[in-house]
Amino acid sequence: MKAKITVLPGDGIGVEVTSAAVAVLNKVASRFGHEFSYEEALIGGIAIDKTGTALPEETLRTGEQSDAILLGAVGGPKWDNPTAAVRPEQGLLKIRKHFGLFANLRPVKTYPALAQYSPLRIELLNGVDMLIVRELTGGIYFGPRQEQGDGDSAYDTELYTVPEVERIAHIAFRAAQGRRKKLTSVDKANVMASMRLWRRTVVKVAEDYADVALDHALVDSCAMHLITRPASFDVMVASNIFGDILSDEASVLAGSLGMLPSASLGADGLGLYEPVHGSAPDIAGQGKANPTGAILSAAMLLRYSLNLEAEAKAVEAAVESVLDQGARTADIAPRGGSFVSTTEFTQAVAEKI
Ligand code: NAD
Repeated sequence: MKAKITVLPGDGIGVEVTSAAVAVLNKVASRFGHEFSYEEALIGGIAIDKTGTALPEETLRTGEQSDAILLGAVGGPKWDNPTAAVRPEQGLLKIRKHFGLFANLRPVKTYPALAQYSPLRIELLNGVDMLIVRELTGGIYFGPRQEQGDGDSAYDTELYTVPEVERIAHIAFRAAQGRRKKLTSVDKANVMASMRLWRRTVVKVAEDYADVALDHALVDSCAMHLITRPASFDVMVASNIFGDILSDEASVLAGSLGMLPSASLGADGLGLYEPVHGSAPDIAGQGKANPTGAILSAAMLLRYSLNLEAEAKAVEAAVESVLDQGARTADIAPRGGSFVSTTEFTQAVAEKI
């Protein structure tokens, strides 16, 4: 197949890890007989330096003409001024909004070879392989709000509509169909009216997915179970705020921030794929970045935007096999032990494919 991919390296290690992901995609293309073309565009601090805005119009036009967007990371000390009118992270918010990316998918998997880096006991980590589906454009972060003039009170509102819950539920059920066919819907239906609507709507959508086993978890006990029995989860679907908190909690299971990929999907199939980590200015330009999060984001791109499941699995298996054979970037190397560079790790993955 032919596909056009927009590449937004951004800042810091974003440049190194997107280049690794593209190298792996190129290997997939040659191995499986596809033609991928890439167009690079600006986002984040580098976009501010060159154009005065964190997300130039030209980047949006490039994205509109492509099948998927691969992003590195944005930000760095040069632009870290919370009161500045133009800031790198504005680029992220604007691009999500422009493409209507309402679903954020964050898989968390533990690799036996890395279990020692997780704060949890090794026996709890066996077989952890979950996907957290977070609603990204609704709920309390976007609901009616007010900071009262006297500064003594303020409120934010958790507001969901049935169509908003339906569309995120469909994404989660479909993802579960492609996995172990288990979906946990997270809510707080015992206390919040918006969460009773959430549960009611998810139960209704479940009628279309008889092959998926649905259960409901209250967010507080779910937070506990993520730590006490993480391997019991397959797909989890949650509101914007609950998904935000639970996905960060789950991220520690993997042992390093550098391991984690993500996808943000919209209604029309266009997706944005990026590692969970930031621009890591402390290691930028030194060949120390772990490219796994970006490479696994490219695997998600193959799966969700291009519908190339076998290719996605080949990338995931290659990463696992390289880790099994002992290749370690600096963040996952034993203390004082040797490690390989970003490029060496990437080459090893490409060779496995
Ligand atoms: P960070 O994720 O950039 O780094 C946190 C720590 O993890 C650092 O010690 C870093 O070296 C390490 N790390 C992160 N990714 C790694 C990788 N792939 N391989 C090896 N080590 C890795 O978070 P931070 O330091 O809080 O933020 C740095 C900058 O990134 C800030 O400007 C922040 O605003 C921005 N940021 C951007 C995004 C994004 O673009 N989505 C997300 C988070 C932070």
